[in-house]
Amino acid sequence: MAHHKISPSALPMLEKCIGFESDGETSPYAQQGTDEHKVLESLLNGEKVEQVPDSVKYAHDLILQFVGGFEEYLKPEVSIGIMSSTFTTIYGTVDVCMVNDDGDGMVIDYKSGQKRDYWAQLKAYGLGLAQAYDLNNVQTVVIYGRQHCYESDIFEAEDLQKDFDALIEKYLRKHEDKEARTPCEYCKWCLHKSNCKARTKAVKEVAPEDKKDLLKGIRADMNLKKIDGEKLGRLYQFSKVIADFADDVKKEVKERLENEQKVTGYELKKKAGKTSISDPVGLFHKSGIEPEKFIKLCSISPSKAKKLGVDYEEFTKKGKESVEIKEVEKNPKEKEN
Ligand code: SF4
Repeated sequence: MAHHKISPSALPMLEKCIGFESDGETSPYAQQGTDEHKVLESLLNGEKVEQVPDSVKYAHDLILQFVGGFEEYLKPEVSIGIMSSTFTTIYGTVDVCMVNDDGDGMVIDYKSGQKRDYWAQLKAYGLGLAQAYDLNNVQTVVIYGRQHCYESDIFEAEDLQKDFDALIEKYLRKHEDKEARTPCEYCKWCLHKSNCKARTKAVKEVAPEDKKDLLKGIRADMNLKKIDGEKLGRLYQFSKVIADFADDVKKEVKERLENEQKVTGYELKKKAGKTSISDPVGLFHKSGIEPEKFIKLCSISPSKAKKLGVDYEEFTKKGKESVEIKEVEKNPKEKEN
């Protein structure tokens, strides 16, 4: 039996591009995700937690609803092995699982971040549970705490095995298959992003005819970290063309969704409006605090200060300097060439 170091959490990426390897960079939200998982685990273990984030509270309530009546069978943070038909085994930890005496099995995974297609991971956990308890089918649930929503499906163990086998087989043969790399939304977190032939080739293919000159001499197997400054300048100019195109596509998607037209795989999500203080005078009177203290809580912009007609310069401070990329004016001689 071959043990493999792939984590089930990498399966959604590998399903999209079998060449994906994490660049190892952690997102600023990773710690928050870890903390939320710990709180959820404590709650499920019946421990008291002083401050429960809203997202975790939602997940905890939902989990109890899902396992309703079978709480005693619920197990948080369970290590699970998943084996392919050719005996390649991977290991992971599922947030919650449950198998009752009637042979009903369920795996639940909590996500603290954005909604994505996590089915490859969920199905792998489901298969691991089916293998461990000899189940015919498993219910899988993914909960998105921040968005207060979930997705759930029931899979036959036989189908789970077939899907897992196909993915593992593809992974083990990835070095033989030259076309295996597929650009996708995970490229930006991939170790190969700077020198991935498939990614550069895909970008070159969408280049508009009149912009193809910008890509002259830039090969699909170039390494972004090593190409010279002249080529990088042209590539940057080209990337702005693509970015404008992407903006247009985004605008069209938004317009259609707003008009209730279908755009496969996407929907509009409502964002709460920003709260602002509309009546600072009313707030001041109600607060009962001294004017000086109250004023310190307020902010005033230089443009508003200008309207006071007093010299306000000595009361200002400069923000931190930043940089931006600016196009250099070519001299006339260069332009002629
Ligand atoms: S950069 Fe290349 S290998 Fe990495 S995910 Fe994108 S296409 Fe796949």
